[in-house]
Amino acid sequence: MLKGHTALVTGSTQGIGLAIAHALARAGANVVVHGIESMAQGHAIATQVAAMGGVRAAYVRANLALADEAAGLVAAATQALSAPDILVNNAGIQYTCPIESFPAERWDAILAVNLSAAFHTMKAAVPGMRERGWGRIVNIASVHGLVASVNKGAYLAAKHGLVGLSKGVALETAAQGITVNCICPGWTDTAIIQPQIEARAAQFGGDRHAGIRDLLSEKQPNLTLLPPERIGDVTVFLCGQAGAGITGVALPVDGGWTAQ
Ligand code: NAD
Repeated sequence: MLKGHTALVTGSTQGIGLAIAHALARAGANVVVHGIESMAQGHAIATQVAAMGGVRAAYVRANLALADEAAGLVAAATQALSAPDILVNNAGIQYTCPIESFPAERWDAILAVNLSAAFHTMKAAVPGMRERGWGRIVNIASVHGLVASVNKGAYLAAKHGLVGLSKGVALETAAQGITVNCICPGWTDTAIIQPQIEARAAQFGGDRHAGIRDLLSEKQPNLTLLPPERIGDVTVFLCGQAGAGITGVALPVDGGWTAQ
């Protein structure tokens, strides 16, 4: 379905990003895996992604907390494999803390990785997409790009910002065969939520299952941690023919969270 296309997926050595890389490879796209792991570790993951879809894959390393590395990522991906006409901004970090004690350096890092990096990669990728008259940009926001929870000030600002930025770029590129959308996951079973699970489990004498049940019952009506593969499936949907008329949306994949 995506044969002949090249996807760059940020933060794709684990979690949702890796599931997206696998799904895009299975759909036939060549994939540039990105991360902050060593070149040896990254190459091993890229080799596995390539084998999954019988496609080509490469690994690029960049710290997206640094503006110049984020700005150079699309060029690095082009050099490593070929110019990406599918861009998935997935890398993200989280830190929870009440506003009065929220460390300023955590605010800066979350804004840099979760929001500014997507600005830099879209800025670099859009000119090539315009030239080719085809492009797909999928930004992994969050339910927290749509609604709030306590103690997540920086994450909320970044994810709401990403939803707004994506709508704007969608309008700027809509007439050139380019779509720009956000996926807004609810609780998904990856490393980023483990500190929150552990904190909740501590309230139940360290019972992890009780902690997860409590977190889900508070917000996510399907009472199930999403497998990261579901986000991969929706990414492929948005990149394929079915998604051609969808641009500027922030699509919840959240087990009913934002329906409440
Ligand atoms: P994860 O922690 O497994 O993955 C995050 C990825 O971002 C990792 O690959 C990591 O290496 C990368 N990353 C972090 N800092 C980076 C930096 N400075 N430079 C480059 N890469 C960096 O968690 P995940 O759940 O797979 O997160 C993927 C995305 O999904 C994030 O944007 C997250 O906010 C979003 N999300 C996750 C959930 C959830 O419940 N898991 C819910 C909503 C949204």
